[in-house]
Amino acid sequence: MNIEHIKGIGEKTLEHFYKYNIYTLEDLLTFYPYRYQILEPSSLENTDKEITITINATVVDPGKVSFIRKNFNTYRFKAEAYGKIFTVVIFNRAFLKPHITIGKEITLIGKYDAQKKIFTANDLKLQKLIGTKIIPIYHTIKGIKNYTLENIMNEALKESKSIEDYVPKKYNEKYHLANKEEALINIHVPNNIQEIQNGKQKLIYEELFIFMFKIQYLKLLKNKEVGIKKEIPKSEIEKFIAGIPFKLTLDQQKAINEGLEDLTSSKRMNRLLLGDVGSGKTIVATVLMVANFLAGYQSAFMAPTEILAIQHLKSIRNLVKDTNIHIECLVGSMSKKEKENVLANMAKGNIDILIGTHAILNEKLSFQKLGFIVTDEQHRFGVNQRGNLMQKGSLPDMLFMSATPIPRTYALTIYGDMDTSLIKQKPNGRKEIITKVLKEKDIKEALFKVLEVIKKNQQIYVVAPMIEENEDTNLKDVYLLKEKFDLAFHGKIPIGILHGKLKKAEKEEVMNEFKLGRTKILISTTVVEVGVDVKEATVMIIFNAERFGLATLHQLRGRVGRNDLQSYCYLICNEEKERLKVLEESNDGFYISEKDFEFRGEGDLFGVRQSGDMTFKIANLKRDYKILLKAKEDAKEFIKEKEYLNNKKYQEIVDKLDFTN
Ligand code: ADP
Ligand code: MG
Repeated sequence: MNIEHIKGIGEKTLEHFYKYNIYTLEDLLTFYPYRYQILEPSSLENTDKEITITINATVVDPGKVSFIRKNFNTYRFKAEAYGKIFTVVIFNRAFLKPHITIGKEITLIGKYDAQKKIFTANDLKLQKLIGTKIIPIYHTIKGIKNYTLENIMNEALKESKSIEDYVPKKYNEKYHLANKEEALINIHVPNNIQEIQNGKQKLIYEELFIFMFKIQYLKLLKNKEVGIKKEIPKSEIEKFIAGIPFKLTLDQQKAINEGLEDLTSSKRMNRLLLGDVGSGKTIVATVLMVANFLAGYQSAFMAPTEILAIQHLKSIRNLVKDTNIHIECLVGSMSKKEKENVLANMAKGNIDILIGTHAILNEKLSFQKLGFIVTDEQHRFGVNQRGNLMQKGSLPDMLFMSATPIPRTYALTIYGDMDTSLIKQKPNGRKEIITKVLKEKDIKEALFKVLEVIKKNQQIYVVAPMIEENEDTNLKDVYLLKEKFDLAFHGKIPIGILHGKLKKAEKEEVMNEFKLGRTKILISTTVVEVGVDVKEATVMIIFNAERFGLATLHQLRGRVGRNDLQSYCYLICNEEKERLKVLEESNDGFYISEKDFEFRGEGDLFGVRQSGDMTFKIANLKRDYKILLKAKEDAKEFIKEKEYLNNKKYQEIVDKLDFTN
């Protein structure tokens, strides 16, 4: 039902609603209050003129309105309460005047100044308040006043029977949930706090149930996907593993085994490899790509940036140098000819592993036998691009890697439709990175450390993270920083600069100089954010740290501490932020991400905007985590019982599902 049929919604109001994407009765009734004002009449004794109170009063003199200027008027009249007569002042309510008649009983909400005998009201109700009254407060819809909205909701609720209840009867009974209509009434016009609770309980559960229903349904579809059952010669892959130049951690071994099992099973691999920065995910992916090669298939490996793609090319090429695997790279900035060359080789099946950025997705690639796709730093692609990847080739196995150890809640939601492997343990011999939050004026401390490590022939990253969308502003910051550093060190320390506007060859050159130790300090924008690996770098200095989430900072910090040398991280900020202390205390990405989640809520944790499906109207993933877990189990069971198959309302949900997330 369209809201235009609801009493009290005229053409103007309708337009206002449309601007907020409220079109249907359901849209309207799920526009929930975000808080409530509880009105309880108090007396006029012992009041404080700073505290908002509610009183019942009787009009003794209807007074008059002063029109001060356009859109601004003051209405003053006299009222009596508890034997006291006082002046009521209320702004912009000239329209109330005809209703304020002698003897009229009203409720006033506002502040009372006993000395001046003035009650400054911010709200006024045209009846006496009996007992407690609860006023729902809605987020602003421009052009519609809260009390108008209250009235409209009252009208809309008369039709609330027609709104679907998505909670299956079984779970309504199990949790003693209100029916949908009741819940909506409780939320919009509650008589007491208990009713709000009851309504909320139902609506939160319902929202999470639908959400988990969708995820479980996607999981079901994915589980049905038939992959390629690969035959991997066991002795050969074992030989490759034995030749790795370091000892794999137990978690790495476990992840490899889980991956190998997926590759050899007829079910398609759909796995998330979750591990903190520096935990060693690349080798896991490499072993699996080798296995895929041994089974006779090609692999594609996607990195979030060109720098990373090129770096992965080098390190993976090095790892597989004793095999006859042919590995190539395809990135956006390659010349047309270079690209064509790679594409041609690809089509001929001459390339076994292709590494690139996600721009690969847009190339007209024809793999001969694509069997395996690895995506590094998956969260950076955004949820929506996942679908895109999946359409290449005939159901290749998929491995998604993420260095952002997302809180459990998020793992459940964003990646709830995948299997997961976890690397918790870091390779042995790593020292914890010593982290310090510094105000900009105390930067000397960091500069002394810079000198100290340079004497030991170690290196320094300086990051000026992107503050504005505008790359040019950011560039200025980077060059300004270089000037400052040159000034501080009398221009005696070679400094490299890296940013997104450099050409590919220039970037490579800068990186190379740094890798070879010819430049000692590398100042960069966030292009180095992920995965760059220079073992001699032991100091990381991050400017404007307070603007970033803990998870992002932790990830940046992970550029150092890549060997057994003691490393340091300085978080430079203009105003000290309590939350940054978490990074001083801990090097555990999982702990940090939980904290980040606590501080920042469910916003854009990883700089990835949530897709539409991830925004909730009443549920809050953090607060309602326990309900989410229940909803997950229930949705699983519900799908298993298959009742949804011949139920129109669930079919509609399924039909509307966007398979890209
Ligand atoms: P990330 O998980 O952040 O992608 P990498 O795969 O880049 O981490 O690994 C970080 C560094 O640790 C690399 O230089 C890699 O060679 C090294 N490494 C990985 N696994 C081990 C291990 N088990 N023992 C020692 N070093 C390792
Ligand atoms: Mg990595």
